[in-house]
Parts: sequence; structure tokens; C-alpha cells
Amino acid sequence: MLTRRDIEEHGLGMPVLTDAPMAEHTSFRIGGPADLLARPRNEAELTALLAIAARRETPVFLMGNGTNLLVSDAGIRGLVVKTGNLSRIERVGETGLRAESGATLAQLAGTALDCHLAGLAFAHGIPGTVGGAVVMNAGAYRGEIRDVAVETRCCDRWGAPSLLRGGAHEFGYRRSAFAAKPDLLALSTLFLLTPGDPVEIRGEMDEYARRRRQSQPLEYPSAGSVFKRPPGRFAGPLIQSCGLKGFAVGGAQVSEKHAGFIINRGGATCDDVRRLIDHIQRTVLAREGVALEPEVRFVGQA
Ligand SMILES: Cc1cc2nc3c(=O)[nH]c(=O)nc-3n(C[C@H](O)[C@H](O)[C@H](O)COP(=O)(O)OP(=O)(O)OC[C@H]3O[C@@H](n4cnc5c(N)ncnc54)[C@H](O)[C@@H]3O)c2cc1C
Repeated sequence: MLTRRDIEEHGLGMPVLTDAPMAEHTSFRIGGPADLLARPRNEAELTALLAIAARRETPVFLMGNGTNLLVSDAGIRGLVVKTGNLSRIERVGETGLRAESGATLAQLAGTALDCHLAGLAFAHGIPGTVGGAVVMNAGAYRGEIRDVAVETRCCDRWGAPSLLRGGAHEFGYRRSAFAAKPDLLALSTLFLLTPGDPVEIRGEMDEYARRRRQSQPLEYPSAGSVFKRPPGRFAGPLIQSCGLKGFAVGGAQVSEKHAGFIINRGGATCDDVRRLIDHIQRTVLAREGVALEPEVRFVGQA
């Protein structure tokens, strides 16, 4: 198993934590310790780290901002790699932006605005990274990553490079080619945008932010919408119609403001959230005949 000393002995000066409480690295504020958590400062450090972990047969979990994760109370065995330091964004030609996977969507959308480029206003309020957003095909307000992402540079767990272009991303509703390729890592993505009026783009971002503040419980830790939208329906109204708004298990509660969100109202455990998810799924299936599928990703042993 990889140790912090192994990483230091390879001359990799990146920040490395041992027994890192994942509650401090996820928007849910839930999760036990990761054996090791490293934050490579550039691509070379990332690929070198992956190679050492592969040689030491250490499991690796790659994360962005941890805004779509529910981490086990027992934590994560092996190495967690956080991409946040890989955050360069550069202009490519007249209308392209290439962003490293750890850049946040807010940074990316902000850069697009500065360059007077339209197409990313929808992404400004989604609290994840570029890598997490490509993997999830994140979307909001009728926009989706698949509308603008044209090429993603990737590598596998041994650092071998590959390229996804256009349809090879296999974007679907909150999914992409990464679902079938757990060993694939997104390094950077090229976004193709269109020239736009900065006042209009800013106005669109402000309007979406206003709608989020109005409809989402942003004052509580959460992982956003817990369930995918079932075909032809919406998860929130279905949960609400079953009388589950405000229903709680331990510290986890169905938000009073938006029934599609589970909030951590203080001290919630992963077990609380899992039991609440089970209860919601069973109730909605029994009363409405709809099987809700989680959008949030479970990590670590249950
Ligand atoms: C308040 C709130 C509002 C939200 N609103 C929305 C919304 O409107 N629309 C929406 O789609 N989502 C929304 N989300 C969910 C979340 O922000 C998105 O799913 C986001 O894309 C996740 O990005 P992340 O960087 O946090 O990924 P993480 O949660 O860290 O990881 C998600 C998955 O991606 C994988 N991953 C991350 N980076 C990489 C990489 N570089 N290469 C390969 N795999 C990688 C991880 O292993 C994991 O499986 C919301 C969440 C919150 C808390």
C-alpha cells in the first residue's frame, strides 16, 4: 500500500494528508477518513503519482470538488486524488477555451464572460469542477456540458494518454463514457463557445443565481439533487407528493425548500443519508410507481 513517505521519496512535493476526514472535502460534510489524500500541482505530478500508486497496487479514487459524492462513514481505503490544483484555463482560437479538470465551473464560466463568449452561463452556479462536470454531463436551465465540450484529454491509471472527441464522450442524461471506464481520468477539456454580449451573459448568470437562491437550500450542506429526473417526471414534486418534505433520519432531512435535495442539518452520517434514500425510494415506488435512481455517487464501503 502506498504511503506518504513513498510519495515524498519520489520527490513529489505536492500536499499529502494522511487519515484525511472526507467530511472536510465534500459538500455534504459527510465521510470518514481517506488513508491518503493528495493534491497534485500539475499534470506531471498527477501522472507520476498514479504510476507509483499502480506499482504499489493501491486503489485510487479521483475527485473534483466533492459536490456529488456521498462518502462512507468508514472512509476510503487507499489514495484519494483531488484535482483542484490543476486549474489552468486558456483561450484557444477565437471561441475556444481549454480548461484543466480541477478548474471550477464558476472559474470557467467567469473566464468565458471575460472573453465575451456565450454558452456557459448555465454552468456558473453548479459548484463542481470541469472534470466532475464532464463525467456527470452536468447541466442546468436547459444547458448541458455536452452542448459545449468538444474534446477531452484523458489518461488511464498508469498515466497512458488518450483523447475523447465529440460523440466519443457518449454524453447522456447525467452520464458519459466515463461510467463504463472507471480507470479513465479527465485531464482537460476543450469547450467551443460563441461570441456573446457580456451584459446579456452576466444578466443570464445573475438570473440563474437568483433562481437557485430562491429554490435551493444553499444554506445547508448537500450534494444537490439526490435523484436523477425520472422519464417525464421530476423527482422533487414526486417526493413532495408522498408527504416526505421535512422527513428526517438522524441528521439527514428531505429539504423543506426543495424535496429533491437531502440536507445535512447537523451531524448527519452517510448511514443516515443512505437510510433516508432507501425510505424515499420505497415510498415513491409504492405510492407513485416510479423507481428513483440516485444521481449522487456512493464512495467507500457501505
Ligand atoms: C448545491 C448544489 C447544487 C448543484 N446543482 C447542480 C446542477 O444544477 N446541475 C448538475 O448537473 N449538478 C449539480 N450539482 C451536483 C454537482 O455539482 C455536479 O454533479 C458536478 O458536476 C460534480 O463535480 P465535482 O467536481 O464536485 O465532482 P465530484 O463530486 O468530486 O465527483 C463526481 C464524479 O466524477 C468523478 N470525477 C471527478 N473529476 C474527475 C476527473 N477529472 N476524471 C475522471 N473522473 C472524475 C469522481 O470520481 C466521481 O465519480 C449540485 C451540487 C450541489 C451541492
